[in-house]
Amino acid sequence: MNEQAGTGALGGDRSGTVGDVTLVGGGPGSDDLLTVAGARALGLADVVLFDRLAPHGSLHTLAPHAELIDVGKTPGHHPVSQKDIEALIVRHALAGANVVRLKGGDPYVFGRGSEEVLACHAAGVPVTVIPGVTSAVAVPAAAGIPLTHRGMTRLFTVVSGHAPLTETELEHLAGLGGTIVVLMGIGTLPSITQGLVRFGVDPQLPVAIIERGYSPTQTTTIGTLASIVFDAAAAGVSSPAVLVIGEVVRLAYDGDSEASVLLARAEALADLA
Ligand code: SAH
Repeated sequence: MNEQAGTGALGGDRSGTVGDVTLVGGGPGSDDLLTVAGARALGLADVVLFDRLAPHGSLHTLAPHAELIDVGKTPGHHPVSQKDIEALIVRHALAGANVVRLKGGDPYVFGRGSEEVLACHAAGVPVTVIPGVTSAVAVPAAAGIPLTHRGMTRLFTVVSGHAPLTETELEHLAGLGGTIVVLMGIGTLPSITQGLVRFGVDPQLPVAIIERGYSPTQTTTIGTLASIVFDAAAAGVSSPAVLVIGEVVRLAYDGDSEASVLLARAEALADLA
């Protein structure tokens, strides 16, 4: 199986040795939010396959010995298919290379990391996973929004907005309460907001959309379930963005009187608990 062992770009003279694969969660895009373990794996890599949303600006420094392969995907446009990415990972590892698959956020949160792990297992390639800081939690935090707040909410649900939710999912989500975080949700924003209201959620519930978290152009748009589709259109909101639906959005209003009132109420509730 080592048909490419010993070729330069694939890791030097490694004939007879199978390499290994490390899936690294790169965090939401800033080098600072890469883990120490992730940075160490990059430093040892012969080959790095990276995504659009992974922190790839400093890869030449972080992975100085590696061949860098951009397999980035933009919504609706897949330069390298998932199957081809898996084949590339396996091929390089079987050729003896120490492969890092660098992904945005955490590899196991809507990251198709598990498919890549299964592909490695099927090919007999050793694989390890280094978790990453997921945008689901970190991007709201970048806008000052906590997903939980004592006395206000004690649960959060993370959903993919890649495809519209079913009626049953919307009904359960509406009944669950707590904070709702939607990734890949710009395209389906009207269906989720209207769906939640249809199943009884208060149309005045606050909603935030945080675009391009941790980048110099990070932007937050705030509205309500009833208004956010219009607010998003007016602001020209685009992907990548994280959507947060819930009372916790009020906490982003730093210094705002409404937030103070809510905080006081939350504290009173916490005292009763
Ligand atoms: N595995 C990733 C998520 C992959 S799905 C993670 O754990 O974060 C891709 C979606 O993540 C994007 O459509 C967007 O909703 C969100 N996302 C990732 N990075 C982001 C960022 N820096 N700013 C805003 N949204 C981001």
